Amino acid sequence: MVRGPWARRFLLRHQGGETGPEYIKVAGECVHQTYLRRIAVQGTGLHMDHGSLVKDELSGSIARTYISHISNYHRIQASTMYHDASVYIVDELRRMGLDDVEIIQLPSDGKRKYWLHRSTVGWSVRSAELRMLQPKKELLADFEDMPMSLHTYSRGTADEGVTAELVDVRAGTSAKDYKGKRVKGKIVLASGCAHTAHVEAVVKRGAAGVVTDTFEYEFPGVRQSIDVPDARAYRGIWPTSDTVVKTRFGFSLSKRQGDELRAYLASGKKVLLHAKVDAKLFPGKYDIVTATIRGSSKREEEVFLSAHLCHPKPGANDNASGSGMLMEIARTITALIGSGKIGRPARTIRFIWVPETTGTVALLSTHPDLVKKLVAGINLDMVGEDQEKCESTLHLSTTPDSLPSYLNDLLWSKLEKSSKELDRFTKVGLASKFRFVRTPFSPGSDHSEFVDSSVGVPCVSMTQWPDRYYHTSMDTIDKVSEDSLKRVGWVTTLAALKIADADARTAHELAGLTYSRGAARIAEASGKASEGIFKVVNDPKLKDKGQELAKALQHHRGRLEHIVRREQGAVRSVLRLAHTKELEVYVERQVGNLADAGQRDIATLESTVETLAAGLKVRVPECPRQTKAEREAKTIVPVRRFKGTLPWSDILEMFSEKSRAAYKGIEESDLDFSSKVAETVNLIDGKRSAYEITLALSAQYAPTDCALVVTLLKDLKGAKLVSF
Ligand SMILES: [Zn+2]
Repeated sequence: MVRGPWARRFLLRHQGGETGPEYIKVAGECVHQTYLRRIAVQGTGLHMDHGSLVKDELSGSIARTYISHISNYHRIQASTMYHDASVYIVDELRRMGLDDVEIIQLPSDGKRKYWLHRSTVGWSVRSAELRMLQPKKELLADFEDMPMSLHTYSRGTADEGVTAELVDVRAGTSAKDYKGKRVKGKIVLASGCAHTAHVEAVVKRGAAGVVTDTFEYEFPGVRQSIDVPDARAYRGIWPTSDTVVKTRFGFSLSKRQGDELRAYLASGKKVLLHAKVDAKLFPGKYDIVTATIRGSSKREEEVFLSAHLCHPKPGANDNASGSGMLMEIARTITALIGSGKIGRPARTIRFIWVPETTGTVALLSTHPDLVKKLVAGINLDMVGEDQEKCESTLHLSTTPDSLPSYLNDLLWSKLEKSSKELDRFTKVGLASKFRFVRTPFSPGSDHSEFVDSSVGVPCVSMTQWPDRYYHTSMDTIDKVSEDSLKRVGWVTTLAALKIADADARTAHELAGLTYSRGAARIAEASGKASEGIFKVVNDPKLKDKGQELAKALQHHRGRLEHIVRREQGAVRSVLRLAHTKELEVYVERQVGNLADAGQRDIATLESTVETLAAGLKVRVPECPRQTKAEREAKTIVPVRRFKGTLPWSDILEMFSEKSRAAYKGIEESDLDFSSKVAETVNLIDGKRSAYEITLALSAQYAPTDCALVVTLLKDLKGAKLVSF
């Protein structure tokens, strides 16, 4: 969740250079009228609303059946089990009659990097079990019964297995957890991150293996381990080519099992475990399944739909749901075209199933020709949640402000319409139980790889969040709702068809939609600015009113300018779909209208501040006092030296221990931190200063300290990823 910069307010007025908005406004008048007359008589039928056709064909039940099949595979990246799931999808797609069905295979050996992202090692498992021998006999984990109970990328043991004593190492993720404990040859019980515990206990200290009972992302009242004491969490060792030789095994236990083992140890009892694992690590391959519905007249341009296929069995919502949903959308469109109910769209629609993040980076970094074809995309990740059971809400994560797009309003308007189309009305209004919200860009799924500024393809993501059963053995098919699937499928199919078939007329319609919604967002930001100014005046704790008003004015003025610029970019983005003189004039006219609205609101804000200052008898300085970090930030203009997103946990390893600890603290207190890091990288263009990047982040998310951006840029410079 982040957004962009631009402090110089009057740049707004010079968007078109010589032919700024004022000029366009006059010149555009007559051209625009002719254009409207021309498109009014076209009526080719291409622009028919497909809403009811898609509603009749697309089935939540069929989507759920695909999801149920996929959730039977243990779909770990670069594993033989993932490959089996890929083959299942390919077979189904061929049966449906899709074009260009294939599995793209790319090396994944734990050594090879795709841009900055290291691939995973290959993995296969035949069986695994963990037994307690003392103080009582009990089967604690069985891979066949529940594959998630084995840490992914566990190495096999000797045929006779390993018998070892259990040692409690608390979190097990730092040196202090091991102080005074001998873990060599023993199995450790850790409550922290399995990967880090494996490095600390096994790789560094020679432990035989790791047992965890971790539960992540606790949200009181929504998702707590106390609600799901028997759930096992998805845990992975993630070895690299450097650590693979020393990699051993790990098991994921439930909270209830972990607590029981811990209690034995606390009471002084010896806990003896026996582990037996039949698994192999080897140089593997990523499977990327792809297929198309070939376009008719603009075949070389592609709209894409993506979903990550990876994750442990069952992973019904995460992300068999997105994967199965994609299959049902593919089936629906193919069936509608096949039956002649809709024409073949002009552009190609491409479907992509990937191993999450690294799989997408692998595809994009090795297929630059494909990237050039991509016009826009929609990513589906965890879309099937039964909202009541999972306590979820559907989020539309928009493109970042660094890449504004019509796509956001197109998807959002379809979501709004989905209520009308798919909900029941009562005498007193709509009776909808389905929740959906629009959320500023937040990374965390494959859309972030496409919108990265070195790739530059607009992509939104739909995700249900939170989810009580996320990344646990309880993410099962009974938590998947046909109703959720029908809605997400309807919205995604209609949006994909609209873009695939878009001509100048559709582009005009989308520009109109984006303009009207954008104007409303500027008005909303203006209201928020006024609220912010009055808050300063009314707050008795803020003593130096002149300074405080100057600060608030600077912030809200910058925010308004940023939002105007973003909305202008979103309206202009329709030109990727069609390029006619008339459309260009229309677009520039709306861009000018947005600039006018912004300038009007800023002028009103300034006069409000003036009036309030006169009433308070204070002087508001032109610029508020600057901090040292702000002064420094103005002198730093970073240049990016890498492609693709930052794999943050690997990047952290390149920083000093002090920096790492500082970032961990910030991550805990600032929920938008990962979004801010991604958007900082997107905004580095060799022209913007660190100060301008900070203003953009503050406008997009909550006010951000210049010192954070300066420190981050310096650390990235130290890692040779940026220069200045
Ligand atoms: Zn996941």
